[in-house]
Parts: sequence; C-alpha cells; structure tokens
Amino acid sequence: AAKEAGRNQLTIFSPLLQDKALERALLVQDLRQAQDKDELILFYQPIIDSEKRIKGVEALLRWVHPIHGMVSPEKFIPLAEENGLIVPIGELVLEMACKQLAKWQHDDIQKTLTMAVNISVRQLNQPNFVEMVKRVVARTGIHASSLTLEITESIFQRDVNSAITKINSLREEGIKFSLDDFGTGYSSLTYLKQLPIDYLKIDKSFVNDILEDKSSAAIAVAIIALAKSLELKIVAEGIEDHQQLDWLLANGCDFFQGYLFSRPLHPNNLQLTLETKA
Ligand code: C2E
Ligand code: MG
Ligand code: MG
Ligand code: MG
Repeated sequence: AAKEAGRNQLTIFSPLLQDKALERALLVQDLRQAQDKDELILFYQPIIDSEKRIKGVEALLRWVHPIHGMVSPEKFIPLAEENGLIVPIGELVLEMACKQLAKWQHDDIQKTLTMAVNISVRQLNQPNFVEMVKRVVARTGIHASSLTLEITESIFQRDVNSAITKINSLREEGIKFSLDDFGTGYSSLTYLKQLPIDYLKIDKSFVNDILEDKSSAAIAVAIIALAKSLELKIVAEGIEDHQQLDWLLANGCDFFQGYLFSRPLHPNNLQLTLETKA
C-alpha cells in the first residue's frame, strides 16, 4: 500500500511498525556483512540414542553481533530466507559443519558420529543444490553417510517433485534426510508417503506438553505410529526432563535431543564422550 501511494507522498506508519521495519532493515544490512566478518558460528547439540549414547550432533547457527550480542536464529533465519541471503549463509553452514565433523572423526573419539544440518527450502530449490552439497562433502572428506540434512514441511508448498528428485540423488550418495518440526506445518499424508526420508523429528512443542496435555500426547502417539508405518526413525526434540524422556522411550522414539542432555554448545565446550549424564 505504501508503494502504491507513491514515493513523494507521506506515508503514516505506526511508531511500532516503523521501529520494526527499521530494526529489520538494519539487521539485514548487518547480516550481509556478518559472513565476511566471521560473526556466524555454529553451536552443536548432541542427539542421543535409546542407550543414552551420543549418536551425533545437530549444527545450530549463531550470529555473534558486535552490538546486539548473540542474535537468535529464530530472528535472523526468516530474514535471510526472505532476501535470499540464506543461500550463501546455508553453504557456509554446511561447509563449517562438515569441517568440524571431519575434525571430530579424525580425532578418533567418534568415528561414527553423525552431523545434522538444517536446510531451508530456498536452498533446496537452488538449481545447483545437489552439486553444492556433493562438492562440500568431497572437499571436507567426510563420509556422506554421516551427514543428515534436516528439511521442513514447507517443501510441500513448492514443487515437491523437484525436491524429491534432489533428495533421491543425494540419498544415492548415502546422505540421510530428516523432516524437522513435524506436526507444526502443512503436511499431507500422501506427500509424506512419497518423501524419501530417513528420520522424522517430532516438534518440541508436542514434547513440551506430552505430560500435561492429553491432545499433545495423542498427537505424539499418532506421529510415532505414522513414522513407524513408513519405516522412519523418530527423533524427539526439546526434551527437558526425565519424565518426558521416559514417556518418549516407552512410546517408541529412537533418538532424543534436548536441554536434558545438553544445550547447543560451542565445539570447544562439547564433551563428545560416549556416556551422558542423563
Ligand atoms: P530446529 O532445527 O528445530 O532446532 C531445534 C531448536 O530447539 C534449536 O533452537 C535448539 O536450541 C532448541 N532446543 C533444543 N533443545 C531444546 C530444549 O530442550 N528446550 C527448548 N526450549 N529448546 C530446545 P535454535 O538453535 O534457536 O534454532 C532455532 C531454529 O532456527 C532451528 O530449529 C532451525 O529451524 C533454525 N536454524 C538454526 N540454525 C540453522 C541453519 O544453520 N540453517 C537454517 N536454515 N536454519 C537454522
Ligand atoms: Mg533442526
Ligand atoms: Mg526442529
Ligand atoms: Mg524449529
């Protein structure tokens, strides 16, 4: 509407809206430079198996802003998705995560450690996405089978067939796929059946409520049954206490992630020993 009104006309914003728009514009400006200034770093959060051993880690992006400090990905990833910055940033993330994995695998403590990396639909839709991933895997020298790419249900809103083709060619290399935040987005069971993936991640919003809220527990039970019937492994995210873990174990989840085990940490602070406290 502001555009339609013409550039020379006075447009009235509410102070709140103006602040928000300004804040976003400034953040985007900074984000363009963040990559060159080494302000983007990865934290890693362990993913645990039912024997309570560390199976792998998920790479989670952090932006250390010179003024604002640590900016949450919930804040800047959507911005980066809107303006396409997610494409170069996503490539950098993949590169950093694979390098770190190569280092851990080389250090020999964790030869079988896996690395999960979040991929935006906008990245997946790039025509050279498959080549880009193969290139990074080759360059960093990791085993393709130790890499998991996490995608979300938003891929169903675009050309799902082209996404499936790309997923298939990367799976032929041994790369695994995980459907993240499951249950929060738009999903059709028909599509889900077609999707060639390995893992389903139950969103933390359900995990958070399973003990208090009957409908969340019912949804979690349904998601687990669905995943099992499609022969997918189930990862539960956002586990904060033992009761939640016990419930998820009893109901057949395969892998577990959450503050109960560890927050996402700087690689120097991460103890990748086989046993965990929980
Ligand atoms: P996600 O991929 O679903 O990652 C899980 C989020 O849950 C992370 O938030 C993690 O810190 C948080 N979490 C883990 N355990 C717990 C818990 O026990 N309790 C609670 N309350 N939270 C827990 P984070 O790191 O803030 O990332 C938020 C989202 O930003 C991610 O959700 C992902 O969608 C996106 N994101 C992060 N890094 C990247 C990236 O490199 N690329 C892309 N495209 N997206 C990313
Ligand atoms: Mg994820
Ligand atoms: Mg998630
Ligand atoms: Mg999420």
